[in-house]
Amino acid sequence: MRQHLPELIELNRLLDTAPASLCARVAHTVELDGVALPIHVLTLGNPDPGLPAIGYFGGVHGLERIGARVLLVFLRGLLNRLKWDPLLNRQLEMLRMVFVPMVNPGGMWRNTRCNPNGVDLMRNAPLDALERVPFFLGGQRYSASLPWYRGPAGEPMQAESEVLAEVVAQELAHRRFSLALDCHSGFGARDRIWFPYAHTTKPFPNMPEVHALKTLFEETYPTHNYVIEPQSRQYLAHGDLWDHFYLRSRGEGGERVFLPLTLEMGSWLWVKKNPTQLFSRQGLFNPRPGHRLHRILRRHLLWLDFLARAACGWENWLPHGRSRLQHKKLAMMEWYGWHMHS
Ligand SMILES: [Zn+2]
Repeated sequence: MRQHLPELIELNRLLDTAPASLCARVAHTVELDGVALPIHVLTLGNPDPGLPAIGYFGGVHGLERIGARVLLVFLRGLLNRLKWDPLLNRQLEMLRMVFVPMVNPGGMWRNTRCNPNGVDLMRNAPLDALERVPFFLGGQRYSASLPWYRGPAGEPMQAESEVLAEVVAQELAHRRFSLALDCHSGFGARDRIWFPYAHTTKPFPNMPEVHALKTLFEETYPTHNYVIEPQSRQYLAHGDLWDHFYLRSRGEGGERVFLPLTLEMGSWLWVKKNPTQLFSRQGLFNPRPGHRLHRILRRHLLWLDFLARAACGWENWLPHGRSRLQHKKLAMMEWYGWHMHS
């Protein structure tokens, strides 16, 4: 009998000792190789729909386990702090927090990017790119045994994608302000924060808000090392779930700001220090245990905590009127190659 998923063991340990204020439910169970792999949804804080919210997601691509691990370390820290930190308790009176640390436990079990049906969940939404996407990488419908498979045309989304859709609809997108952070690891030498769109190079309508958030982060933590940019600057793709959820929330009208962000931890950062990891699929997407792993976890905890506080205090920094126009101008210049002509 193979040992169970270490991340699931860690999550169960957390749940065993969690305070009553943490609500946990199993949104779906993936049955695979005779094991049951639950998708847990955890909530903390005030459920009042008039308040802001933040959602943290990990393990969408089963191979990129570091995303789930960062979230579990962050969550453990929060639960421990709840016991002694009055400021965190105050924060949770003003904020809703939701966690889905292992969106694709079947993929984690099998060490694959895709889910057990061979579907890449980040290509699974019923949304086509408006411009040319990179061949294969941008999503394909040829075969589930090849990477970046979108799933059969016209069929409902995969169960894992539906769990995300439901959590976004119930906990995030209907609020006046909400943030989402989906934690991945990818090739590249830098840690990146992506915001939509992935299906078009057109500017993201909420870019002034993202630009204001970026400014806030830079003012608060001037030494950070993230590249913050629209995903379309890297590549376009079909079926992006976050574009899909974002567009759906906008379609419902009303004055809302929902900012779905993706953290792409640059895996060259650890591979270049240990080139033998190039020869292992696990190693490519996940740092070796030890102090390198600890450093990576630590670095991102700051960003995760910052986002919760930014969501909590959104009314104090979200730009309006002239200030919003100014952020829009700067965002257009920084991200969309726009130049001022006056
Ligand atoms: Zn990924």
